[in-house]
Amino acid sequence: MVTESQYPPVDIPEVDFWGFLFERDIPFPQDKVIYVNPETSRQHTFLDVKNTSIGFGHALETQWNWKKGDVLVTFAPNCIDTPALNLGTLWATGVVSPANPAYSAAELAFQLKDSESKAILTMPALLGTAFEAAKIAGIPRDRILVMGDEKCMEAQHFTDFVRKAGHVPKVRRRIQLPSDLAYIPYSSGTTGLPKGVCLTQENMSANLLQMEVTQSELLWDGGNNGEGDSILAVLPFYHVYGIAVLVHHPVFAGIKAIVLPKFALDVWCQAVQDHKITYSYVVPPILLGLSKAPIVDNYDLSSIKVFVSAAAPLTKDIVNAVWNRLKIPVKQAYGLTETSPGTHVQRTEDWQKAIGSVGRLLPNQTAKFVSEAGEDLPVGSTGEFWVKGPNIFAGYWKNPSATANCMSSDGYFKTGDIGYQDQDGNFYITDRLKELIKYKGFQVAPAELEGLLVGSDMVADACVVGIYDESQATELPLAFVVKTEKVKNVADEKLEKEICQWVTSKVANHKRLRGGIRFVDEIPKSAAGKILRRLLRDRIKEETANK
Ligand code: AMP
Repeated sequence: MVTESQYPPVDIPEVDFWGFLFERDIPFPQDKVIYVNPETSRQHTFLDVKNTSIGFGHALETQWNWKKGDVLVTFAPNCIDTPALNLGTLWATGVVSPANPAYSAAELAFQLKDSESKAILTMPALLGTAFEAAKIAGIPRDRILVMGDEKCMEAQHFTDFVRKAGHVPKVRRRIQLPSDLAYIPYSSGTTGLPKGVCLTQENMSANLLQMEVTQSELLWDGGNNGEGDSILAVLPFYHVYGIAVLVHHPVFAGIKAIVLPKFALDVWCQAVQDHKITYSYVVPPILLGLSKAPIVDNYDLSSIKVFVSAAAPLTKDIVNAVWNRLKIPVKQAYGLTETSPGTHVQRTEDWQKAIGSVGRLLPNQTAKFVSEAGEDLPVGSTGEFWVKGPNIFAGYWKNPSATANCMSSDGYFKTGDIGYQDQDGNFYITDRLKELIKYKGFQVAPAELEGLLVGSDMVADACVVGIYDESQATELPLAFVVKTEKVKNVADEKLEKEICQWVTSKVANHKRLRGGIRFVDEIPKSAAGKILRRLLRDRIKEETANK
């Protein structure tokens, strides 16, 4: 059955994203503070964000001869400068490709090369990795800029870069088409290695407007200007969820965002108390901490009206536990990098009525659930979730076969997630068809770890799957490994430690084999040599259920 959104369609203006954000009637005072660094009290108003974005865009054009479609890779923890610099890159008709600051030089170099990046924006503490990766990717050292409160000798601060560009034009010289690219974040999609996800100008504006139908109810004054609201910006600015709700939405809706570079429960609680945070976007492990950790009792969190949780599965138990302890409702949302990201955000009134649901289909989208045989399923039946709408990405970067594999002949994006919808139009995501593993909301691509593992002289073959750990409310990557002859007689426990340490030395924190290793005689494969991943996943699920 094909489902149309129950919400009336929203009008998506045919302008580029910079114009969408800044060339409109701004419904709040332009000197409104939008971004605050709580550590140093440095802050940016709406006008600061706009002016810095113009200054940076102008410097890109005049200093570096930035061309349409040139890619800037951001490689930094959350920083109050990021939004203006992302938007400045768009002003200069460039494209932003955000990278995880936990990446090793090799991981960053992969993204730099694959996205054909022309420059890197980072912070002083990460310059070592940035220089090493830039060298591998052939990016000159003087194409690396830093942002944040600190300047350093090794790389130019963006403010000096902007100052040197001199007088800033009053009028924009270049404008993007709605179909031009805005961002290229990386996702492994349904299968294989991380791929660049082409998100257009229109994808960005469309999804802000689509999400607004339930976001605006978060605001104290019903969505007029977010006057009394402040949010905590702790979700990563380098993941599409953070980009949409923390880098774009505060600028769009005039909401004050207190920016934290990384999550620590005590710092988070202190910031809520100090800044009277009114709502917060979270991932399930944060909610678990809030429902259980004793230190939470030391803080006054009563200013928070509601949480929005997305990026990974959330259990009903956690939603109930948060409510029982803090009397704060949790709304769930769902989406993917490829859907810019939100396809669903629960309405506040539904959080208890349809607990466990990700909400109703947001406006301008059509969706269906499809069986393994490719048939449309009726309401209540479980199958793969397919969706169509203006927020669906434009394809994988220079990878037409991966793009073709995830699109149906009738134009739907096949999410690789499994679920169903109930009679009232509430959608539920219950499982995953695709390989992807999510550690605390971060993507782990099994194919990437498998490729790494078989490169070790200790591993003859490998398959990586996710194992759900309730005590941390997240999946953990676990490897099935066939030993090589060389280590055949090494005790499992010793070898597991060695392989895990070896992997840890090569990958970003979230990709570590926290689920451990199971040694097996062979990895089950189909006649065509494809790993029968589901067999191994089911084995782990059964073991967990029988515990
Ligand atoms: P990403 O592209 O990193 O945003 O990852 C998207 C994937 O995260 C989806 O395909 C789902 O598998 C998972 N995901 C996101 N939100 C939820 C949710 N609310 N419940 C279950 N899984 C989710």
